[in-house]
Amino acid sequence: AELELSKNGWLLDIEKLTLGENIGEGEFGAVYEGVYMSQRVAVKTIKCDVTAQAFLQETTVMTKLQHKNLVRLLGVILHKGLHIVTELMTKGNLVNFLRTRGRSLVCVHNNALVLSVDVCEGMEYLESKKLVHRDLAARNVLISDDNVAKVSDFGLTKVDSKVSDKAKLPVKWTAPEALKKEKFSTKSDVWSYGILLWEIFSYGRQPYPKMSLQEVKDKVEQGYRMEAPEDCPPSVYSLMRVCWEQEPRKRPGFHKLREKLDREMEKLSPG
Ligand code: ADP
Repeated sequence: AELELSKNGWLLDIEKLTLGENIGEGEFGAVYEGVYMSQRVAVKTIKCDVTAQAFLQETTVMTKLQHKNLVRLLGVILHKGLHIVTELMTKGNLVNFLRTRGRSLVCVHNNALVLSVDVCEGMEYLESKKLVHRDLAARNVLISDDNVAKVSDFGLTKVDSKVSDKAKLPVKWTAPEALKKEKFSTKSDVWSYGILLWEIFSYGRQPYPKMSLQEVKDKVEQGYRMEAPEDCPPSVYSLMRVCWEQEPRKRPGFHKLREKLDREMEKLSPG
């Protein structure tokens, strides 16, 4: 993996990197703001060597993925573990974004829809590449300086599931067939996308409020689904509900979802 990355120019020079403030904590290490050759960047550090090797493999996947709604990888640095360098998303993750500016900035449903479309387009691209994310959630969507939502951590999630186990699955976002039989697919990503829509339209609330993980598992299996967030347009809620069809093949793909969202946008902003 190292050789392939180096051949294609994805190995960056530590000398050209200036690390700045700590801006977040990842599962495997801290995330810092920084500057690389006069570009503002985010740097995810992975100290554990075993994990670093696994991540290095996966970053070779990331180098092949480029889309306006995916957080762009700039390269990696091999130095005391692994540094993953990506574009800096100055407005942080979508959950915090929604919680802090939700009602003022996203208030108009149109803005919430724009965020939804952004994420959907990123996922449509991954779908076209036959890549399954497995951990789509508002916490893994980041917001750029100009308010564009981009999917993060794609390509890396396979690593997570190798080191982690079933006990660590994000229960509230994971489709029933993925929880029970580890059947991950684009359609299980679509389920997660439905939860993410709910997060957006509830301005960053925790899904299934007040329910324990075991309760969520049991009830969802029996057909229970979350209610519409307050003030959520019924047409958007019905999109969530199709994403949460028990039967994966009854759920739309991301391409179809994007078409439906486009129609919603047209309804809200005629002309
Ligand atoms: P993990 O997936 O290991 O939990 P994340 O990639 O989610 O780690 O990073 C943790 C936090 O760091 C994010 O929630 C976000 O606030 C911040 N962060 C990560 N990547 C970036 C980035 N490219 N730009 C700005 N902030 C980021």
